Amino acid sequence: MCAVHGDYVELVGRHCKWCGAAFGICRSCYRGHAYCKDECRAEARREQCVRANRGYLDGLLEKERRRDAAMRALAYRQRRRKRFGQSLNGRFVVVIVERRYS
Ligand SMILES: [Zn+2]
Ligand SMILES: [Zn+2]
Repeated sequence: MCAVHGDYVELVGRHCKWCGAAFGICRSCYRGHAYCKDECRAEARREQCVRANRGYLDGLLEKERRRDAAMRALAYRQRRRKRFGQSLNGRFVVVIVERRYS
């Protein structure tokens, strides 16, 4: 029996992507149906939305974390550079020059 208009006709057999139930749909109604009934489609779509949202939020958090780490690393490098500049002043420059021509 066609899940859309309820007649006994030549059917396309499908399994619901949501609940897994087998259902039939006639060729004239079939438009790539993947769900046995509207509730299944609605549930699946809601799940998809939730998942998409979650992915989006995760992405934001991940970006934030990465920026945080980058900022910390930058601050660390800057602190270290400052310390180098203060304590090793001239010697540091000499080391670089020696390395470049070796
Ligand atoms: Zn279903
Ligand atoms: Zn039909």
